[in-house]
Amino acid sequence: MDCLFCKIIDGEIPCSKVYEDEKVLAFNDINPVAPYHILVVPKKHFASIAEVSDKDMGIVAHIHSVINKIAIDEGFSNAGFRIINNCGEDGGQEVKHLHYHVLAGKKLPLYEAEKK
Ligand code: AMP
Ligand code: ZN
Repeated sequence: MDCLFCKIIDGEIPCSKVYEDEKVLAFNDINPVAPYHILVVPKKHFASIAEVSDKDMGIVAHIHSVINKIAIDEGFSNAGFRIINNCGEDGGQEVKHLHYHVLAGKKLPLYEAEKK
Protein backbone atom coordinates (compact mmCIF):
# COMPACT_ATOMS: atom_id res chain seq x y z
CA MET A 1 0.00 0.00 0.00
CA ASP A 2 1.23 3.46 -0.85
CA CYS A 3 1.17 4.79 2.71
CA LEU A 4 4.02 6.79 4.23
CA PHE A 5 3.53 5.50 7.78
CA CYS A 6 3.16 1.87 6.61
CA LYS A 7 6.53 2.34 4.86
CA ILE A 8 8.05 3.69 8.09
CA ILE A 9 6.58 0.74 10.04
CA ASP A 10 8.02 -1.68 7.44
CA GLY A 11 11.44 0.02 7.66
CA GLU A 12 11.37 1.12 4.00
CA ILE A 13 11.61 4.74 5.15
CA PRO A 14 13.77 5.56 8.20
CA CYS A 15 12.47 7.23 11.32
CA SER A 16 13.80 8.42 14.65
CA LYS A 17 12.21 5.76 16.84
CA VAL A 18 11.02 6.57 20.36
CA TYR A 19 9.08 3.40 21.26
CA GLU A 20 8.00 0.15 19.63
CA ASP A 21 5.96 -2.88 20.59
CA GLU A 22 4.01 -5.49 18.63
CA LYS A 23 1.07 -3.14 18.05
CA VAL A 24 2.46 0.39 17.78
CA LEU A 25 5.44 2.46 16.69
CA ALA A 26 6.29 5.92 18.02
CA PHE A 27 8.78 8.23 16.31
CA ASN A 28 9.78 11.87 16.21
CA ASP A 29 7.83 14.13 13.86
CA ILE A 30 10.06 15.30 11.00
CA ASN A 31 8.74 18.85 11.39
CA PRO A 32 8.41 19.39 15.15
CA VAL A 33 6.25 22.22 16.47
CA ALA A 34 7.32 21.73 20.12
CA PRO A 35 10.48 20.51 21.90
CA TYR A 36 8.87 17.05 21.99
CA HIS A 37 6.72 16.15 18.98
CA ILE A 38 6.17 12.44 18.81
CA LEU A 39 3.82 10.52 16.51
CA VAL A 40 2.26 7.32 17.82
CA VAL A 41 0.87 5.05 15.11
CA PRO A 42 -0.75 1.61 15.11
CA LYS A 43 1.13 -0.96 13.03
CA LYS A 44 -2.18 -2.01 11.51
CA HIS A 45 -3.30 0.44 8.82
CA PHE A 46 -6.43 2.47 9.57
CA ALA A 47 -6.95 5.50 7.32
CA SER A 48 -8.20 7.58 10.27
CA ILE A 49 -10.00 7.27 13.62
CA ALA A 50 -13.26 7.37 11.63
CA GLU A 51 -12.24 4.03 10.06
CA VAL A 52 -11.73 2.24 13.38
CA SER A 53 -14.64 -0.08 14.20
CA ASP A 54 -15.84 -0.73 17.75
CA LYS A 55 -14.17 -4.14 17.53
CA ASP A 56 -10.77 -2.56 16.87
CA MET A 57 -11.12 0.37 19.28
CA GLY A 58 -8.87 -1.32 21.85
CA ILE A 59 -5.90 -0.03 19.85
CA VAL A 60 -6.82 3.49 20.94
CA ALA A 61 -6.65 2.54 24.63
CA HIS A 62 -3.31 0.88 23.94
CA ILE A 63 -2.00 4.01 22.21
CA HIS A 64 -2.99 6.13 25.23
CA SER A 65 -1.28 3.67 27.53
CA VAL A 66 1.88 3.88 25.37
CA ILE A 67 1.70 7.68 25.44
CA ASN A 68 1.65 7.59 29.26
CA LYS A 69 4.75 5.36 29.23
CA ILE A 70 6.55 7.62 26.76
CA ALA A 71 5.67 10.70 28.84
CA ILE A 72 7.25 9.11 31.91
CA ASP A 73 10.32 7.81 30.03
CA GLU A 74 10.94 11.13 28.27
CA GLY A 75 10.34 13.07 31.50
CA PHE A 76 7.40 15.30 30.53
CA SER A 77 4.61 13.44 32.33
CA ASN A 78 4.45 15.81 35.30
CA ALA A 79 4.84 19.04 33.32
CA GLY A 80 2.09 17.94 30.93
CA PHE A 81 1.52 17.32 27.28
CA ARG A 82 -1.10 17.49 24.54
CA ILE A 83 -2.44 14.64 22.40
CA ILE A 84 -3.84 15.55 18.98
CA ASN A 85 -5.60 13.37 16.43
CA ASN A 86 -6.44 15.04 13.14
CA CYS A 87 -9.22 13.31 11.22
CA GLY A 88 -10.12 13.93 7.60
CA GLU A 89 -10.14 17.01 5.44
CA ASP A 90 -11.64 19.51 7.90
CA GLY A 91 -9.50 18.08 10.72
CA GLY A 92 -6.33 18.82 8.74
CA GLN A 93 -5.17 15.21 8.40
CA GLU A 94 -2.36 14.99 5.85
CA VAL A 95 -1.12 11.43 6.31
CA LYS A 96 -3.97 8.96 5.86
CA HIS A 97 -2.78 6.46 8.48
CA LEU A 98 -4.18 6.86 12.01
CA HIS A 99 -1.71 8.70 14.22
CA TYR A 100 -1.62 10.65 17.47
CA HIS A 101 0.60 13.69 17.88
CA VAL A 102 2.13 14.10 21.34
CA LEU A 103 3.38 17.63 22.01
CA ALA A 104 5.34 18.59 25.10
CA GLY A 105 8.33 20.46 26.48
CA LYS A 106 6.90 23.98 26.56
CA LYS A 107 3.72 25.80 27.50
CA LEU A 108 1.71 25.13 24.37
CA PRO A 109 -0.23 27.91 22.66
CA LEU A 110 -4.01 27.88 22.70
CA TYR A 111 -5.51 25.65 20.08
CA GLU A 112 -8.40 26.45 17.76
CA ALA A 113 -11.16 25.09 19.99
CA GLU A 114 -10.12 27.45 22.80
CA LYS A 115 -10.15 30.59 20.65
CA LYS A 116 -13.19 32.78 21.00
P1 AMP B 1 -1.28 15.17 10.08
O1 AMP B 1 -1.39 16.55 9.50
O2 AMP B 1 -2.02 15.01 11.38
O3 AMP B 1 -1.63 14.11 9.06
O4 AMP B 1 0.24 15.00 10.49
C1 AMP B 1 1.20 14.36 9.71
C2 AMP B 1 2.52 14.60 10.37
O5 AMP B 1 3.47 13.71 9.82
C3 AMP B 1 3.08 16.01 10.22
O6 AMP B 1 3.26 16.61 11.51
C4 AMP B 1 4.41 15.80 9.50
O7 AMP B 1 5.42 16.68 9.93
C5 AMP B 1 4.72 14.35 9.84
N1 AMP B 1 5.59 13.66 8.88
C6 AMP B 1 5.49 13.66 7.54
N2 AMP B 1 6.46 12.88 7.01
C7 AMP B 1 7.18 12.38 8.05
C8 AMP B 1 8.30 11.50 8.14
N3 AMP B 1 8.91 10.97 7.06
N4 AMP B 1 8.79 11.22 9.38
C9 AMP B 1 8.20 11.76 10.48
N5 AMP B 1 7.14 12.56 10.44
C10 AMP B 1 6.63 12.88 9.24
ZN1 ZN C 1 -0.61 2.96 6.51
